[in-house]
Amino acid sequence: MLRSILFLAAAGVVIFFLWRRFGPKTVDTRHERSPALPSPGADLSNVVARDVRLWAHLPQSLKDTLLSRVREFIERIPFEGAHGFEVTDDMRIVIAAQACIVTLGHDDYPFDDLHGITLHPDEFVVEESEEDEETGVVTEGYRAISGQSQGSDRIVLSWRDVADSQTRHEGYNVVIHEVTHFLEHSHPGGDRAARAALEAAYESLCDAVDRGEETLLDPYGAEDLTEFLAVAAEFFFERPADLRERHPTLYVLLRDSFRLDPATWQATSS
Ligand SMILES: [Zn+2]
Repeated sequence: MLRSILFLAAAGVVIFFLWRRFGPKTVDTRHERSPALPSPGADLSNVVARDVRLWAHLPQSLKDTLLSRVREFIERIPFEGAHGFEVTDDMRIVIAAQACIVTLGHDDYPFDDLHGITLHPDEFVVEESEEDEETGVVTEGYRAISGQSQGSDRIVLSWRDVADSQTRHEGYNVVIHEVTHFLEHSHPGGDRAARAALEAAYESLCDAVDRGEETLLDPYGAEDLTEFLAVAAEFFFERPADLRERHPTLYVLLRDSFRLDPATWQATSS
């Protein structure tokens, strides 16, 4: 599921290389602010049930918690459309719902430090520099990505990729990915044993990728430990039964961290 992205080197040399959709922490510019609150009467539960695939899998008690948390999220977090992109109430609800699903196992609202969400209509270009580990040569350039988490301050998303992840079942979810980055920044935790288990799972993915094996987890997770955690979180929520079967230790680690057990959730029609 890697996507080929055009990378423009500063020297004018055009290099093609493979890169997944998510990027490092850089700063985007020029946003247009959307209204802070959804219009009166916006029907949260209808939008969530219609547009958020994970909704059907949630136990009823978590559905109730989710709706109140989504309400709080969209009341407190300003959304901005980049370059005049119009952010609708439905878009805010869909993004808020997925962000809040990640938090359902914890009692506290964890987004106090999140100052806003910026939404682009599609993939967006960021400037970056990359250092070759062996030669030390730094290449400056631009890269198109679908999401980024800027520390514990702002999450930037491509709406097309948010919508895409609702129609796919490949373990891909850009909102869950970026929210996991945000939470890792704003709520660092985990004891030494958990850290060691996470590192072991990461090393095992790196080895499998090096050997050219087919992996359940997106090989982008071999990028570094932070990306591994974000990719693993996507699979934990999107394909929990597969993750539990193929990587039981990693599944238990995430289950204890998120305090949720999505492999036991059963899809219902309501
Ligand atoms: Zn990432």
